[in-house]
Amino acid sequence: MGREEALNRARCQLSVLKVRMGSVVSVQLLLSQPAWLGTHWIGGRQWLCAGCDDGECPGCIGQCSRLVGFAGVAVHVGSRVVPMLLELSSQSWAQLELLSHMDSMDVVPGLVFEASRRRSRGSLRCEPVKMSPVVPELASFDQARLVNAVAVLYRLPLLAVGEDPDGWFLRVRPTLKRQLAAAAGALSGAT
Ligand SMILES: [Zn+2]
Repeated sequence: MGREEALNRARCQLSVLKVRMGSVVSVQLLLSQPAWLGTHWIGGRQWLCAGCDDGECPGCIGQCSRLVGFAGVAVHVGSRVVPMLLELSSQSWAQLELLSHMDSMDVVPGLVFEASRRRSRGSLRCEPVKMSPVVPELASFDQARLVNAVAVLYRLPLLAVGEDPDGWFLRVRPTLKRQLAAAAGALSGAT
């Protein structure tokens, strides 16, 4: 990896927001939709699914993939507002949409909601609070930024200039297959 690429990846990196059991974290949505991706849990960590449509994902042998949404959110850290990734299930997202509509709020950038977890392995509960303007420095947060943050998290190539997320996913599939085959191989070799 060249120095410029390493710098670029460092710029694209976002922390994953941890919501511990019993805690409530206030976050603000930066994009109307999370990036939805299939995942596998192999060898004690999460990997992205290479796509099950053609039966070519090494992770899909023996287990189904689990759909995970990666939402771009703004979080207050001290006196700063920083962008982060929030991982949630489709059920958690559906609940946020339902509760928002009941309160006549749209699930759009600016929606402030509280994320909490009642059980350590339970799914995230997301309750809308209010609409509020996104801070100017995060107003330009877009889908490319979100996909690139996911790419850095899973050690995948960044989005190419002019590439859409679907094109990116097709391009990184061979890398995903290699990662999953290596993870599954390491696991079977270790047992
Ligand atoms: Zn898979």
